[in-house]
Amino acid sequence: MTITHIPVDLHCHSNNSDGVFSVTDLLDMVKNNGGKYIALTDHDTVIGVAEARKHAKQIGLHLIGGVEISVTWRNNILIHIIGLNVDETNAALVNRLNELRKLRLARGEAIAAGLAKVHIPNALEGAMRYCDNPNSLSRTHFARFLVAEGYAKKGKVFDKYMVAGRPGYVNQTWATLEEAVSLIVGSGGVAVIAHPCRYKLTRMKLLELIADFKQYGGSGIEVISSSHSPDDVKRIAAIAACQGLLCSIGTDFHNVGENFQKINVGLNPPLPANCMPIFEKIGITDTLLRDQ
Ligand code: AMP
Ligand code: MN
Ligand code: MN
Ligand code: MN
Repeated sequence: MTITHIPVDLHCHSNNSDGVFSVTDLLDMVKNNGGKYIALTDHDTVIGVAEARKHAKQIGLHLIGGVEISVTWRNNILIHIIGLNVDETNAALVNRLNELRKLRLARGEAIAAGLAKVHIPNALEGAMRYCDNPNSLSRTHFARFLVAEGYAKKGKVFDKYMVAGRPGYVNQTWATLEEAVSLIVGSGGVAVIAHPCRYKLTRMKLLELIADFKQYGGSGIEVISSSHSPDDVKRIAAIAACQGLLCSIGTDFHNVGENFQKINVGLNPPLPANCMPIFEKIGITDTLLRDQ
């Protein structure tokens, strides 16, 4: 029998970053969907991990402490690096993440100024209606405001307003790749390149990213992601096998109906057969997840 989904999700967001659901609601959804192994990976923060650990224990989920760090690689290429199994009490990690989060409000003010120039007033206040904490303020919150006010359709809002070259995009320098990987590994975690096909890198550039990443101590890559097409999955699985990278799997869930594909948080398609799964490296030893 072909298995369509396995109960593992190593990438998702709560309202501690740009997800919509609280940590407890998110984990309850995972449980209801039949998920078992879940990593909370909010952008540039581990704030929700302690609560997630506690709630996961109560409802019988295996929780992996995680984070998704924003990185500026080379001249201005935005990359996301996932940390799995990080220690959410590690001072170096927590302090640097706090610094990164503090950049978000000032960037939000600049984003709002850009949108005001194209006759979209009060975007900062508008985005903040969807955001609980100014330190979490994300392009996603602006996108939700723009859609709700009718400035753009859901699937089009990023390309219209929020990506490089559009009025609501502001350049931001985040952590360096070396810093992000070092912080993750230094806190006992495993570093993973998130959604590698989202960056629209040439094959050569992606291989250069992987080389830098491995040199700094990174060891994993997301093969299964809701932003990957079936061809993307095959391409990244082959690259991961050649490069000796451990393969990860995550929905990148933020909200119901807001992802690139229809997904259920907590569940993912199995990894292709040529993949070396990341599972054991982060303490998931479930034998049912092998030999897919
Ligand atoms: P930020 O960290 O504030 O720059 O926001 C980045 C977030 O915006 C990502 O984590 C995604 O959740 C979301 N995002 C970025 N690009 C897109 C896109 N093309 N379509 C939908 N969501 C996107
Ligand atoms: Mn996000
Ligand atoms: Mn991401
Ligand atoms: Mn994400």
